Amino acid sequence: MIYEDLILNEKIFSILTNAWKQNRLPHALIFHGANGVGKEAHAIEFSALLNCKNIVNNRACGECSQCLRIKSFQHGNVKLISPMPASSKSTSIEAGSIHSLSSTQLKTYQQALEEKGKDPYYKIGLKASTIPIAIVRELRKDLYMSSIESGWRIVMIFEAEKLCTGTQASANALLKILEEPPEKTLFMLVTSSPNQLLDTIKSRSQSFYFSSPTDRQIETILINRGLESKRCRIISKMCQGNISLAMNLNNHYDSIPKDIKIIFESFFNDDPVFIQQFQNRLQDLNRIGNKELFDNFFQLQIQLVRDIILLKQDKDSLHIVFSHLKEKYIEVIDDNKNADFHSILEAIDDTYRMNLGNVNLSLNSISLIFDIQSCLEGKVYQSIE
Ligand SMILES: [Zn+2]
Repeated sequence: MIYEDLILNEKIFSILTNAWKQNRLPHALIFHGANGVGKEAHAIEFSALLNCKNIVNNRACGECSQCLRIKSFQHGNVKLISPMPASSKSTSIEAGSIHSLSSTQLKTYQQALEEKGKDPYYKIGLKASTIPIAIVRELRKDLYMSSIESGWRIVMIFEAEKLCTGTQASANALLKILEEPPEKTLFMLVTSSPNQLLDTIKSRSQSFYFSSPTDRQIETILINRGLESKRCRIISKMCQGNISLAMNLNNHYDSIPKDIKIIFESFFNDDPVFIQQFQNRLQDLNRIGNKELFDNFFQLQIQLVRDIILLKQDKDSLHIVFSHLKEKYIEVIDDNKNADFHSILEAIDDTYRMNLGNVNLSLNSISLIFDIQSCLEGKVYQSIE
């Protein structure tokens, strides 16, 4: 195996392995499922299996020269395509090509690849909303002009739905390749939003759905990575099956207690001092520009409300994440008998999405607090959609 702590989807992996052995592998696969469940790592693992020189029990060895080159994204047969920022560095090189990245961007990208080689759940995440057509053109040239080394040529496309942004030119260019697929070439499109892919691409591919791992499986991964047990329990419950998110939460775990206090007091006790702190925290997080931290702050808000919903349904629920807050939660429930907590979740979700579009943060956070106050009185929140 390339990855020691990947939770392997045995069923999908054996279907693919059998198809390969019987020479019935389709030209294109779509791996879909929620974020952070290991779809990309499965694509890498299968690429290695198809090229490994020393297969053991239908798994790539992870150690031969082929495997090592795949793990470090330096294998001539295995191409990785992922969203790229458009660059203004040069006009002679088409924007969006990897050659057009600035040196800082290139360095970030290389570091991200290095991390991905070590951690199956690492998210490459260059700040980019599209897979530029230049990349697909380069790919086309590569595929038709170069001959392959022995084994299989693989094209992995991460966040494949980003082929379909704007005019969908990149998706259409890829479709042309899929219509005349080169020999012994396998495309693996990985996406959390398969509904955004072109139907014509979907109809030429075989789709596999990856389900989310259980809390217990995630807890085990975290424990095996040497983290303390209470931390593992809290993070595995908070991340909702998303192991990439679990890693982010772990990176920012120390800020959780303070953030909980700010959120709790501003949401449920209407305390002006904390409301001010809530606004400040959001603005700070936005200013630092760390999306992980920003997302985690919202994730915490959602988690607190989810805990309350669980307790309201069952006062002995064992599923609440922050069990040390149980008494405080119960006070909130008792003080707000008519409250609509599901509406509060919707309000938080709307605010998060508005803030992603980066309108007035300060105004949004105040309006969120107002919305929560009225939901606590029993009013139903009207979603902006
Ligand atoms: Zn190997």
